[in-house]
Amino acid sequence: MPYVQETLNRLQKSSPAQTEFYQAAEEVLESIRPLLESDKRYLDANIVERIIEPERQILFRVTWLDDQGKVQVNKGYRIQFNSALGPYKGGLRFHPSVNAGIIKFLGFEQVFKNALTGLSIGGGKGGSDFNPKGRSNAEIMRFCQAFMSELYRHIGATTDVPAGDIGVGGREVGYLYGQYKRLTGNYEGVLTGKGLSWGGSLVRTEATGYGAVYFAENMLNSVSDSLDGKTCLVSGAGNVAIYTIEKLYQVGAKPVTCSDSQGTIYHAEGIDLALLKDLKEVRGVSLEEYLKTHASAQYIPVADYPKDGHAVWRFEAQAAFPSATQNELTEADAKALLANGVICVSEGANMPSTAKAMDLFIEAKIAYGPGKAANAGGVATSQLEMAQNASMTSWDFEKVDRHLQSIMCGIFERSAETAKEFNDPTNLVLGSNIAGFRKVADAMIEQGA
Ligand code: GLU
Repeated sequence: MPYVQETLNRLQKSSPAQTEFYQAAEEVLESIRPLLESDKRYLDANIVERIIEPERQILFRVTWLDDQGKVQVNKGYRIQFNSALGPYKGGLRFHPSVNAGIIKFLGFEQVFKNALTGLSIGGGKGGSDFNPKGRSNAEIMRFCQAFMSELYRHIGATTDVPAGDIGVGGREVGYLYGQYKRLTGNYEGVLTGKGLSWGGSLVRTEATGYGAVYFAENMLNSVSDSLDGKTCLVSGAGNVAIYTIEKLYQVGAKPVTCSDSQGTIYHAEGIDLALLKDLKEVRGVSLEEYLKTHASAQYIPVADYPKDGHAVWRFEAQAAFPSATQNELTEADAKALLANGVICVSEGANMPSTAKAMDLFIEAKIAYGPGKAANAGGVATSQLEMAQNASMTSWDFEKVDRHLQSIMCGIFERSAETAKEFNDPTNLVLGSNIAGFRKVADAMIEQGA
């Protein structure tokens, strides 16, 4: 279909430096070819051109005082990508790698991810190139307050509801919420991932990691298998990785790795979860410290990583859970995983596999759950938080967890059925992209141009 290639060429010309956005758009557009061929309504309504264009992009200056009294300046972003299905919904990322292209790719992914949940949420994303590493608590607070001093005018409980992402956890959401309330006087569910005593939902912290494991179980159960007894590789040491590891133990699997920006831990007996939580959630120190408690574990510093990929993917295992960041799993990593016996990959991060790595997983016909399906448990539970806020109630842990499990099962079934419908039954990339696209596109057509 020349139309898809022409659209991609135009996209590359209009935003040449936005490589991650182009990668995400190319993946979706290539996947939906069979849908565009079978249903002319989408081309007639020019939906592809419309869907790759964000509704609104906000770029702002964030100035704040560091502990030395010096004025610091950062860039702030909020992209309101698509509101066909509901209020814009998506996290905020604070990381030095953040730029307009990264936020655009994340916002684009969010649109389809949120559609796949079956809930009424549109897609958005935001963040800043602010680097929280090495900053004091007071600096983090001043930065969050300065960031919200601009953002508050663009968001609202029924219009745009941000949450956390890399570099934005419970503490940051608290400082952001406090400032929103100070500026507007509104006590409303304008952010998710809030503290439990002021409107947060149980399970929200665990949801992305738990959801990625539930998704893997759904994929494996459909081929009469399960995670029970399987050795698993997990990357990352943040919120997603920690609760992936926790849930893996609960379903009888053995996670043997985790990683941070400095290096990777391999512990053949299984990662010590209590220690990992202490290192990262309480003390905020490097994973190298893990060796002080477990001398038998292995630590591989970044300098010793293979030139063509990441050390975390080079160990023997049956399942892998990329839970750190985009493009953290290369073609060479995918080859190593497949050669070492991996039969299941469930992505807790957004677009963690490169395009070539994805192709290898699809070709190998393993149980491969792409990020926008497998990691949707986080945003889905955010929507459950919004529902609780709107009705001024709070649900118990079991109730939220039950909802999360049934949402992950629904995402799997929707993706698998759509893959079957388009005669590529094991390809959940195709299934999830078409299912997400169709839902958003149909709503856009019904709502008019
Ligand atoms: N940042 C998460 C994601 O990538 C969660 C977003 C949210 O809860 O709104 O989906």
